[in-house]
Amino acid sequence: MRKGRIVENSFRVAFITLGCKVNSYETEGMRTLFEAAGYHSVPEDAAADVYVINTCTVTNTGDRKSRQMIRRSRSLNPSAIVAAVGCYAQMAPDEVAVLTGADLVLGNNQKHRIVELVKELAGKPSRAVSRIAVMPREEMTGFEALPIDGFTGKSRAFIKIQDGCDRFCSYCVIPLARGPVRNRRMVDVLEEVSCLSKKGFREMVLTGIHLTSFQNEQGEEGLTALVRALEEMEGIRRIRFGSLEPAFLTEPFLDMLGGSRKFCPHFHLSLQSGSEAVLRRMNRHYSPDVFRGIVQAVRARFPDASVTTDIMVGFPGETADEFEESLAFCTSIGFSWIHVFPYSPRRGTPAAAWPDQVPKSVKDSRAARMRHLAEEMRTAFQQTFIGREMPVHFEQDVPGKPGWMEGFTTHYIQVSVPAIPFQPGDCFRVRLDESLGDRMQGTLVI
Ligand code: SF4
Repeated sequence: MRKGRIVENSFRVAFITLGCKVNSYETEGMRTLFEAAGYHSVPEDAAADVYVINTCTVTNTGDRKSRQMIRRSRSLNPSAIVAAVGCYAQMAPDEVAVLTGADLVLGNNQKHRIVELVKELAGKPSRAVSRIAVMPREEMTGFEALPIDGFTGKSRAFIKIQDGCDRFCSYCVIPLARGPVRNRRMVDVLEEVSCLSKKGFREMVLTGIHLTSFQNEQGEEGLTALVRALEEMEGIRRIRFGSLEPAFLTEPFLDMLGGSRKFCPHFHLSLQSGSEAVLRRMNRHYSPDVFRGIVQAVRARFPDASVTTDIMVGFPGETADEFEESLAFCTSIGFSWIHVFPYSPRRGTPAAAWPDQVPKSVKDSRAARMRHLAEEMRTAFQQTFIGREMPVHFEQDVPGKPGWMEGFTTHYIQVSVPAIPFQPGDCFRVRLDESLGDRMQGTLVI
């Protein structure tokens, strides 16, 4: 049993974020709410009065890391209020409460209530029982607005434009954790972008759970209208997208992007498998041939585009031949990076109940081969840029390398450059000299 009150005038709040860019965005929203209520933010490993752990449930690893972070926060200050929020809290609130002893378990679409609920708990003499606030999926009908006034340690701004997913891929728990598709009003998106650009953010990364579902208030395909509006907005240098579902990249949409001065030619197209049979079992709505056609259409407009993807290995029933097919398909596409995920059974999804689960040792060895391919392809992609001069949008000092700074090209190549003074958000021309694996090294061009 834990007892305690937080003391007036010493409210410190620490945030730990797991998972995706939408979670990062929502953590910043909660930070803004706490700071508006008089709390001050401290680093995640500091002593705090309140810890907010924004959890992830996309894989078993997400669940496990979320639990670890909740327990670690408790150990940093046993009398703090520990709040587990987000996707894992949404999917397994009782488990989170019992296994971690979080004081507050807060699901999705409830994050705007966090300060009110923390204050309620702080006023209680005992917090022996977790307070659980989780909304059923069918009630998650509105877009949850959170105020954002910046992004800690970043010069890029993530703009959340939609939430939820209605696709129900057979392995994915996200439609259950995040609820149905809800769109943010275009006017609110543009207002947030305008505020952030006035604060010096020059690069906007449009994010969402299923970004390509975004529609404007007239029910039209919204990404086109949004990119057109951002194109006209002063102060914005770059527009990027988070993950896109391939089948939504139509010729007119690509034509529109081809005409944009600000769009960054980096396409994260979530393939999942290069085997047609596996894609069918996954309930993905395209074949490898369709995917190849889309990549060709992208490269027809952006010949040096960076095309990255996610690949799942060891999906139930994935045979050795299907895996080889997937590997060969990825090789033939020539991605600039692959995020590799061994399949992880998620409660409540059809694939978790299928009998032909792939043994862990097989998943691990397939993941290792796919990661090896990813590294080879990244090096090959970077080598095509050696000697080229590119604008680099700088973000931060290089950790452990005093005097160096790092940033990203439009193609999302991370570049380190020695010894120049900069402000995050500055953009300089850099000659790319060398491929170093996860990044390139360059020289400032005066
Ligand atoms: S599109 Fe499929 S993989 Fe992506 S969030 Fe929706 S259900 Fe999950």
